[in-house]
Amino acid sequence: MQRDSLIFDLIRQEKERQMHGLELIASENFVSEQVMQAMGSELTNKYAEGLPGKRYYGGCEIVDQAEQLAIDRAKELFNAAWVNVQPHSGAQANAAVMLAVLNPGDKILGFDLAHGGHLTHGSPVNFSGKLYQPVFYGVEPDTGLIDWEKVADIARRERPKLIICGASAYSRDWNYEALRAAADEVDALLMADISHPAGLIARGLLNDPFEYCHIITTTTHKTLRGPRGGMIMLAQDFENPFGLKTPKGELRLMSSVLDMAVFPGTQGGPLEHVIASKAVSFFEALSDDYLNYIIQVQKNAKALAKGFTDRGYNIISGGTDNHLMLIDLRSKNLSGKQAENTLIKADITINKNMVPFDDKSPFVTSGMRIGSAAITTRGLKEADMERVVTLIDDVLQNHENESKISAVKGEINNWMKNFPLFS
Ligand SMILES: *Cc1c(COP(=O)(O)O)cnc(C)c1O
Repeated sequence: MQRDSLIFDLIRQEKERQMHGLELIASENFVSEQVMQAMGSELTNKYAEGLPGKRYYGGCEIVDQAEQLAIDRAKELFNAAWVNVQPHSGAQANAAVMLAVLNPGDKILGFDLAHGGHLTHGSPVNFSGKLYQPVFYGVEPDTGLIDWEKVADIARRERPKLIICGASAYSRDWNYEALRAAADEVDALLMADISHPAGLIARGLLNDPFEYCHIITTTTHKTLRGPRGGMIMLAQDFENPFGLKTPKGELRLMSSVLDMAVFPGTQGGPLEHVIASKAVSFFEALSDDYLNYIIQVQKNAKALAKGFTDRGYNIISGGTDNHLMLIDLRSKNLSGKQAENTLIKADITINKNMVPFDDKSPFVTSGMRIGSAAITTRGLKEADMERVVTLIDDVLQNHENESKISAVKGEINNWMKNFPLFS
């Protein structure tokens, strides 16, 4: 077969872009060589609908072992009783949970997208907002923090069937205990979507949702530093309260309802090459090296937050407990779009983001979101964060000065040579 030079040239260019730049997108990371190898392996050739030991295809003896390793390691990592590692992405994991526990038209209570929530928690443009009836809680205007008592009030008023916690741009920890009490009061299920801070939660650096939440979903590619994918977990199995029965008339266990919601409910054949890669990333996440890494991620985020605050930037909620922060740029007379477009000229990647009570559109926004997971993988330490903030501030303060921006780009490209990526 003729080599596809067009695509492989693009891959080479993307690899160089990643090597030269300063990667601050909070949802991104750099996976290890072995995580990448498993993803690019022959396992992609295998059909394996079903679960290990219960497949609809022959020849699954080996992928069964790989998937079982992924499951067992995920259980160990999160101290979970049950895991399904097949969801193709975080959005697919959430779709499967909602299919399992809701009927179309049921009410869900999620964290407002404009305050840092995720599309799959009830946005009107997403299946979750189209098939179900979403209501939202948000942060307080004066503190940027969630008031847990107010969430409970909304739950009492709205009586949702599912309460969703977790976010894409909330820099503080979650009070799972208070949310569970609110859920119990109205007989709702509580789901935590830990897509962003999964790595910090796994290694004990944040509150543990497994103590209080009925169902936990996550992506595997953010702080967890695995391949692009999702998974669903239970701290303990329980009878599905919403009445799905077995042919014998018994209530089904939630684990089996969730398994069926993944396949055949929302997906076909699992991506066994990605599942093997998930297994590799969980193996890594259980190591001391990863523990040191994820501690450094949190330290670096704190150092970034301090640096920005010292330079007069307004961080929503005033700081961070995890790996990310949301910065309101209105006090600097910049939009999120301007910041994103200017910083990229200096090879600094961030993303524009709505801030709570934003007066600009999602295409413009008043904020930028910054995370420390990727640059920490790269090897940057707290002392380097001061320089990162200085470079960002230089570009933003001089956003119309092309020669200044190109000088910063040169400095970053040189600096990044000291932190090799990929062998
Ligand atoms: C990233 C994210 C997701 C979705 O993950 P995809 O893999 O992009 O589908 C879901 N929920 C939250 C909170 C996220 O941050």
